[in-house]
This record gives sequence, C-alpha cells and structure tokens, in this order.
Amino acid sequence: MAQIGIIGAGPAGLAAALFASQKGHDCTVFESASNPGGMAASFVVAGQRVDLGSHRLHPATEPHLLALIKQIMGDDLQIRERNGRINLRDRWVKFPLRATDLIKKLPTNVALRIAGETLTKPFRNSIETNFYESVQHRLGPTVAEEFYGPFAEKLYGVKPHQLSVEIAQRRIAATSGFDVIRKIATATRTSGRVFLYPRCGYGSISERLADAANEAGTELCFNSPITKLQAEKDSVAITSAGRIFEFEQVWSTIPSPNLLAIAKPSPPSATLEAARSLRNRAMVLVYLVIPKPQYTPFDAHYIPTTETIISRLSEPKNYRDGPDPSNQTVLCAEVPCWNGDTIWNSSPGELGGLVSEDLRTMGLPDPQHVHVELKYLPSVYPVFEHLTSEARTTTQLAAQSINRVVSFGRHGLGVPDNLHHVMRMSEHLVNSLSSDGALDTSKWDEALGSFTKHVVED
Ligand SMILES: Cc1cc2nc3c(=O)[nH]c(=O)nc-3n(C[C@H](O)[C@H](O)[C@H](O)COP(=O)(O)OP(=O)(O)OC[C@H]3O[C@@H](n4cnc5c(N)ncnc54)[C@H](O)[C@@H]3O)c2cc1C
Repeated sequence: MAQIGIIGAGPAGLAAALFASQKGHDCTVFESASNPGGMAASFVVAGQRVDLGSHRLHPATEPHLLALIKQIMGDDLQIRERNGRINLRDRWVKFPLRATDLIKKLPTNVALRIAGETLTKPFRNSIETNFYESVQHRLGPTVAEEFYGPFAEKLYGVKPHQLSVEIAQRRIAATSGFDVIRKIATATRTSGRVFLYPRCGYGSISERLADAANEAGTELCFNSPITKLQAEKDSVAITSAGRIFEFEQVWSTIPSPNLLAIAKPSPPSATLEAARSLRNRAMVLVYLVIPKPQYTPFDAHYIPTTETIISRLSEPKNYRDGPDPSNQTVLCAEVPCWNGDTIWNSSPGELGGLVSEDLRTMGLPDPQHVHVELKYLPSVYPVFEHLTSEARTTTQLAAQSINRVVSFGRHGLGVPDNLHHVMRMSEHLVNSLSSDGALDTSKWDEALGSFTKHVVED
C-alpha cells in the first residue's frame, strides 16, 4: 500500500483521499486554508451560509458518483428546480431556455435570424480557428454576437477571437442550433431543469467528503500551506511551516505553475517562463446583505453584456430549503477581473455601489443593502489564449513528469471543470494505482486523455 501526501482539500484532493483510503492507502491531506472545500466551499455572511459564486450539483454527474454524494449527504441533498434568467437585449429570458418564454421575449428579427442560421448551418464556413469562429460555425453568427461573444469577453477579459477553439469545446455542449432546440424541449419539462443542492450550502459536500475521508483513515492538516516539494528517486518530501514530510507519492491539486515554482529539482527556466505566461482570470465576489426576506424569486441571473461588471448574480437562499434567516437575504455578485486591477483593489463600499448601479440599470430592484462583504478568487478561469497554447502544453507536460508527483483537479490541469469532473479525476487516479501501490502511468495518461472531453455545466 502507498503512502500518499495530497496537496489541497478541495473536492479533488478530498475525493482522492477518500477513494485511496478506502483501498487501504495511507493518505495525508495538506490544505493552506482553515476549512475544506477550496473554490467549492461555503462560509457565513450575516448569519447565512453562502458559496463562492453560484454552485450547483448537476444531474450530469456520473450515477455512481452521484450515489456516493447522496450517501454522504443523506436527506440534506435536495432536488431543486432551476429558476434562472439571462439578460438578452435588455430583456430577461428564462434560463434554462423554454420554448414559450423565448417566443414571447425574443425580438422577432433576432428569433428569425437564429432560426435561419440553424437551418443554414451545413452551408456555413466550417473553419474554426478560435472561440468566436467555433461558436459562429456551430450556433450561428447571431448567437455568437448576442450571447457567447460578449459573455466570453467579460469572463476571460480578452476578445473572443483571442481565445482558442478548445475553450468552446470545454464550455459549450451544443454543436448546432438543433442541439439547442433539443435542450429547450428538455428544459420545457420541469423534470428537465432540475439540479441538486445541499440544504446548508454547496460547501457541505466537501465537508462531508472530508469527514468520510477522515473516517476512512485520512489525516487532514488545515492551515498547512506547502511551500516546497523535493522529488527524489524513491520518495517525495514536502515542506509545510518548516516541517518536512516524506511520502512515496504526492498528488497535487494546486495550480500547475505554482507546483512547478516550488518543485526541486527546478524545471528548466524556459518551462518556468512558459508556466508564468499562462493567464488566469480572477474574480471578486461581492455579497450584499439585504434586510428583506427575498430579493427576487430567481436563483441566478446571467448577464452576458460587457456594459455591466457583474457576470452572474445569485441569491443563495433560493437554491435550497434551508435554515436561513427569515427576515433577510444575501446576494452574491460575481465580478470577473484581473488580479491587481481597479476592480480587485476597490473597497467594499465602492463595489457595493457599482453592483447596485448595475442591478438598477438592468431593471432589477434597488437592493438597498445594509452590509457588503468581499471574497477574492485570484485564479478562477484559465484563459485559453491562442498565444499561450504551446506554453499550456509545456506546463502540463512538466507538471505531469515530476518524479512520483501527480498534478490533477481544476487547477492542477488548468481546466474550467465542475466538482463532478474533478471527483471523476480522483477516481481514475486511484484506479491507476497498481496492486503494489505504484502509479500505472499508462493508465493515468489514458485517463488524462478522457478528461479533455469534460464539458462544463453552468
Ligand atoms: C464562480 C464559480 C462557479 C462554479 N460553479 C460550479 C457549479 O455550479 N457546479 C460545480 O460542480 N462546480 C462549479 N464550479 C467549479 C468548482 O468550484 C470546482 O470544480 C472545484 O472547486 C474544483 O476542485 P479542486 O479540488 O480541483 O480545486 P479547488 O477547489 O480550488 O481546491 C484546491 C485547494 O488547494 C488549496 N491550496 C492551494 N495552494 C496550496 C498550497 N500551496 N498548499 C496547500 N493547499 C493549497 C486551496 O486552498 C484549495 O482548497 C464553479 C467555480 C467557480 C469559480
């Protein structure tokens, strides 16, 4: 059996620890924060549990992983009906899209253009050299121009033409207007627009994973950032708070550029430079406390236009039937930005003001908030730029080739994946261990190939 050190107590690290411990391996998890969950954690704002942006468990989760989550969550995992809206041309359209609502809300000329472009897809230019062309080819110029183009620019901070085709493949499941029509038909039935959510916040899933891993024998070390990793021929040593811990293998879920930066022997300087060139979009989460029971009945508002700073607004209370304060609600506005830019450096008062202004501009109620809290996510969306696609490959190859070290999870592979995807990675990683505990690298390489087919659910 192997002795494994795991870096990061987000869903990827915790699921890997649980699966490996259940097979009898000896696991220790090191987490820099004081709590489990990583980006999928929950915390309290004004007495109410909230998430780091809108999170939901998607029914696309593989049945056996869903069964595991249901088992550890028990009755706390609720099945909910999605009730969101998208802002399109200053109108609020239901999301997931529904046939009758679209007919009522979409301007006739836009609807006709989209319908025409769906029928003429076989005759469209099929060359896809960037994100924009990919959306244009698959779904037509109107959908690219009105929705995906501006949304991508807002989320990634670069023009959609600068993004690679890969990000379109990873983020958009539909390959034609007919796929969208099929999705609309599904979502028009109530059963086709459900999601799963824990009554005390998304972070409960990670908290229960941590408990389950601990019960299976995993040692969990919080407030334990790893600052150095020394890979030797027969072992790997990792350093936290000046103490050195030695393992047969280390599994890392931290961003691959950070892993390369702390790894010894150091990778070649050209590799480190390639890793540093990869940009990640940051996000400030702006929480507004509102002294009334509900702001709107909707769970999330999606806002593609670049004329506002918010990309999505969620009201956590509407995601669940939970023990929330009855006389107040909290809103969470997701504001994509660059680490260190004006948004990143704005005060709670300034961002509270900007968010309220956006809400009023879009015809939503004036929040009249009484308190603002901010959370900072320094690396939230990997920016798949053409310019850095070679650097991305170099970084991944280098991170995967450190002796006795595996890099996985959302940041470890530099992908925009969901919780159910990273749990799948953890499962494949544990299944890639041979009976003597050594990693079967050909099995793991095959698994890595299968992860490129993950498509993000929103
Ligand atoms: C705005 C937003 C919305 C999302 N919506 C959804 C959704 O609806 N559904 C869904 O399933 N997923 C959603 N996701 C994705 C989900 O949050 C991720 O898939 C998940 O958190 C990835 O888990 P992970 O363990 O790979 O990484 P993380 O959760 O990032 O965990 C990595 C952990 O490593 C720790 N760490 C970093 N450096 C060190 C170090 N040096 N030493 C020790 N520890 C370290 C971090 O503190 C962190 O806890 C969303 C993400 C965002 C940002």
